[in-house]
Amino acid sequence: MNRRIFLQGVTLILGVPGAVVPIPSLLAAGEMALTVEPLRKSHQQWKALLSVAAFEILFEEQTEEPGSSELNQEQRRGTYICAACYLPLFESQHKYESGTGWPSFTQPIAGHVATRPDYSLLFRRTEYHCARCGGHQGHIFGDGPLPRKERWCNNGLALQFVVHTDPLPPLRS
Ligand SMILES: [Zn+2]
Repeated sequence: MNRRIFLQGVTLILGVPGAVVPIPSLLAAGEMALTVEPLRKSHQQWKALLSVAAFEILFEEQTEEPGSSELNQEQRRGTYICAACYLPLFESQHKYESGTGWPSFTQPIAGHVATRPDYSLLFRRTEYHCARCGGHQGHIFGDGPLPRKERWCNNGLALQFVVHTDPLPPLRS
């Protein structure tokens, strides 16, 4: 399936009241092509495979406490994969220290994440999730480093890190 997500017009409202910051590169791209086949599993099936905390983040859109993830300190070269289905989502060269207490990246692996508007707080944010299993990962903000200015703010429990000397695990089916 070559699903295309139309992102034109996406704007983000940051933690500063009243501040509306667009994400230039997403706006310029206009749309993002997904490159993976969806994996359809029930929430019950995922619940049996994941820890309670990971399940609540990935499939009930909870957010972990800032500073709680050991991935904040991870600086080795490697790949960050979805903790549910094992799809690679981020490469270590795009990780940076945002100071927020959550693992943060300047960009995902193209086509491996999908986004949608999130109105669960009083303002609009852009949620993103694994394009394969739909597992919630985090939110995108427009205050990241140049040139993209994106901050992909991820829950550590929604990811697993695979150091570059280890093979990536096969995708869960
Ligand atoms: Zn996944």
